[in-house]
Amino acid sequence: MRKLLITIDGPAGAGKTTVSRMLSEQLGYIYVDTGALYRGVAFEVIKKGVKSDDAEGLRTLCETLDLKFVLEQKSLSLISNGKNISDLIRTPEITMMASAVSAKQVVRDFLFDLQRQLGKDKCVVFEGRDMGTVVFPDADVKFYLDAAAEDRAKRRYNEMKDKSTQTLHEIEKDILKRDKDDSTRNIAPLKPAKDAILIDSTPLSASEVVDNMMIYVKQIGESY
Ligand code: C5P
Repeated sequence: MRKLLITIDGPAGAGKTTVSRMLSEQLGYIYVDTGALYRGVAFEVIKKGVKSDDAEGLRTLCETLDLKFVLEQKSLSLISNGKNISDLIRTPEITMMASAVSAKQVVRDFLFDLQRQLGKDKCVVFEGRDMGTVVFPDADVKFYLDAAAEDRAKRRYNEMKDKSTQTLHEIEKDILKRDKDDSTRNIAPLKPAKDAILIDSTPLSASEVVDNMMIYVKQIGESY
């Protein structure tokens, strides 16, 4: 099979992370969670007290930010200015700030080159919001994974219940706000690419989604 670059876009809680991990493992590919990069910027924004609507402040922050993924024990750790912040970026505050800063052109431009660089040798599964539309419009296989909002909130709640005090209702509220903000922003809004394969994960287990994806991946990987 030829080397592929695969993108998986979709709203929060649709199961992108689980499915991207499983798919990349089956293929022996690297998995890149691009949401972590936006969370990394949000982490620094909060730490430095920059306001999300301060374009100049965000520009200076990005210009001096050394943000990268480093391969550690088969998975990528997020390193910001020399510090591993992978375990510090999943708080509700950072989640909402990531969504706020992701609507800013200066932040998207900063992360664009970094993401393109990670995809240059293919054999990668990229998970995000604009992977198939903006960052890799030339991707070999594009998926758009969606699920009913209620289901997405329940999944996120189950993932977070040991780490956060947020109730199911609060999580659902945050998810709906984030979806609305992410899909209505002017720059790189969340939407399926024209040539994306749409999968509704509501009635499916993660393995069923991956089995489904593998059919397309094999078909495309073995063609021309
Ligand atoms: O995927 P995750 O929930 O970690 O992403 C956090 C936020 O980062 C999203 O709500 C979205 O606003 C932003 N994001 C983005 N483009 C991406 C990945 C994430 O705008 N490719």
